[in-house]
Amino acid sequence: MNRTPLVAGNWKMNGLPDSAAELHKMIGALKGGGHCDVLVCPPFPLIATFVHDSVDSGIGIGAQDCHFAEAGAHTGDVSAALLAAVGASAVILGHSERRADHGEGDALVKAKAEAALAAGLMPVICVGETEAQRDSGDAEATVLAQLDGSLPDSAGVVVAYEPVWAIGTGRVPENSDIAAMHHAIRQAVVGRYGDAGRAIRLLYGGSVKPGNAKEIFAIEDVDGGLIGGASLKADDFLAIVAAA
Ligand code: PEP
Repeated sequence: MNRTPLVAGNWKMNGLPDSAAELHKMIGALKGGGHCDVLVCPPFPLIATFVHDSVDSGIGIGAQDCHFAEAGAHTGDVSAALLAAVGASAVILGHSERRADHGEGDALVKAKAEAALAAGLMPVICVGETEAQRDSGDAEATVLAQLDGSLPDSAGVVVAYEPVWAIGTGRVPENSDIAAMHHAIRQAVVGRYGDAGRAIRLLYGGSVKPGNAKEIFAIEDVDGGLIGGASLKADDFLAIVAAA
């Protein structure tokens, strides 16, 4: 099955209005599109400007979270409908930092994914084991349980496998471990959605850099990457996009 690779940048709580300069550099280099899909997910207040600046550039703009409700008394939260209305095309959900910092569990991630799909956004659902879970041999069971609880009822999602211990640490699993996990995730999404599961893009995330991206993206069932730190600098991000 041919899947268009996706390279998604998660800016986390980084960036100020003048960070648009990095986006403009990316837009200039990619010149309206290329061999893979590219997504940049800045903090909420930058989304509308980034959408405006990236029209016809081939770069999609996404968010890093949304609420599960359509609207209402949820101070500080942002609805999927508003994200879609200002032009976002995707939303990262269930990132390990949100699971850890905000106590987000699988059922909540699933509810957010359903809301995102209803609003026309592509959910990028993150799963991944901690170092302790890997050391105790529970990595696969952990990830499969997260998937089971977090995936929405329909298949229009992207899944990002991000071992928690590899995020921002410079440490990356062995290629064979990434391959085994992505194979297990592929089986799980095909089990869940049937043939539609074969079209789901599975991203690897965790310390992907220009120097290791090509090798990681060559692994079977790795359909691109979710990139944190290296997505903040256009040169690094573009090198990773080129590797996809
Ligand atoms: C992330 O947090 O999604 C991530 C992959 O971060 P980094 O690339 O910095 O490890």
